[in-house]
Amino acid sequence: MHCPFCRHSDSRVIDSRTSDDGLSIRRRRQCPECGGRFTTTETASLNVIKRSGVMEPFSREKVISGVRKACQGRPVTEADLAILAQRVEEAVRQTGVSQLDTNEIGLAILGPLRDLDEVAFLRFASVYQAFDSLEDFEAAITDLRADHSEQEPADR
Ligand SMILES: [Zn+2]
Repeated sequence: MHCPFCRHSDSRVIDSRTSDDGLSIRRRRQCPECGGRFTTTETASLNVIKRSGVMEPFSREKVISGVRKACQGRPVTEADLAILAQRVEEAVRQTGVSQLDTNEIGLAILGPLRDLDEVAFLRFASVYQAFDSLEDFEAAITDLRADHSEQEPADR
């Protein structure tokens, strides 16, 4: 890592800490040449293979734009979407893979989106899981209802 002050080609790590979300490591570095101190952030690379075969870095923005349409008219804020995208990234990184396809991203979105807004979840799932009949919707809704009846006693 080059020193940003004098461009010296080496630096010494003087402190490392993991970020609160556990997704990156911040390192405090010092240049042995000029003594300048700077911070770097390291994140494991995570790539998405698009349907076209093109690989691009995972982006929370892309997750958000992918679900925004399903959330139209729903009481979902930009902050909710940001948290959802963070949860998706955490879930994906926890699996330990370094690359995945857009379909796997879609599947990773389903859980957090379901917690956020069930109508948006149904809209999104109907596209991602290619619902092609009323029965598919019915099965998904039955699932949601079953979870409600399990969760309610625990909530109160
Ligand atoms: Zn330096």
